[in-house]
Amino acid sequence: METQLLKGREVVSQINVELRTKISLLKKKGVVPGLAAILIGSDPASKVYINSKENAFKKLNCYTQTFLFNEDADDDEIISLIKKLNKNDKFHGILIQLPLPGKMAVKKILHTVEPSKDVDGFHPYNLGLLLDGDPNFIPCTPNGIIEILKFYKIDTLGKHAVIVGRSNIVGKPMFALLSQNFKMGNSTVTICHTKTKNLKEITLKADILIAAVGVPNLINGSMVKKGVDIIDVGINRVSDNSIKKYKLVGDVFTEDVIGIANSVTPVPGGVGPLTICMLIHNTVKAALNFSSTRGSTG
Ligand code: NDP
Repeated sequence: METQLLKGREVVSQINVELRTKISLLKKKGVVPGLAAILIGSDPASKVYINSKENAFKKLNCYTQTFLFNEDADDDEIISLIKKLNKNDKFHGILIQLPLPGKMAVKKILHTVEPSKDVDGFHPYNLGLLLDGDPNFIPCTPNGIIEILKFYKIDTLGKHAVIVGRSNIVGKPMFALLSQNFKMGNSTVTICHTKTKNLKEITLKADILIAAVGVPNLINGSMVKKGVDIIDVGINRVSDNSIKKYKLVGDVFTEDVIGIANSVTPVPGGVGPLTICMLIHNTVKAALNFSSTRGSTG
């Protein structure tokens, strides 16, 4: 079987056309979509993500500013900045780059972001709306996965989708989306984690398999059935002999599933570009909400 590579950039190009129209509409009203990003500590993968995000925002003429803190910053310092940003009209979205350094009160910090600026969709209010079937901000990676499935015409209706990983940022919102009575939902969804017994038995039953685990090459060819569509969310650094001394691999052993799967997202170049694209999408949405509220209040 020929396995199609589901390339994220092609999906992004299409979404960007729509985003550009919305951004120029906002510009005419004097609004430039703005994102405040808070980066605490020096995690190399987080730095790479923040740089890519800055470039993507610039390319689309959106505004972004990154607020840097040392690893030993205290929670109150961060919370006080978020409260200021909540009131600053220049920023329509606020992003807290995860993971936060060890001792920080992650939930308290994330919950301080005003839901109307929560472009990551991590606030319980927005997660609640998603579960309720009436989402406002959908977490970027799961939303990007839906866009990939839509673009490549991978139907979800009545399919058995298996998600490996139950994090609040990928696995759980992905479950909420695929199980909803939406056009790109209506799947029967199984969600797996470290306490799941006989993982292979379950992944072998997947029509759509989503791996969001953080374990290099966990899913191999013997764990997937013929014709499965695979979304590999994992981004893992493994050492090699290159100048960088590492390479990026997913949670799926790509070479091993080629010839078995109907399709698979490559790593890098699959889901990653969509995460940033959906962040811009949510920031533009927040700016449009802001612009319409401002219009109605004078
Ligand atoms: P988390 O560490 O928050 O969650 C990982 C999940 O995988 C947990 O639910 C964990 O189970 C489960 N898990 C871990 N090991 C196994 C195993 N051996 N078998 C079954 N389940 C397992 O990770 P994230 O969801 O934040 O990220 C997952 C991966 O996706 C990472 O590689 C991350 O870098 C990448 N990522 C990529 C993005 C992109 O844009 N492409 C965006 C976000 C993340 P349990 O709950 O029991 O611990």
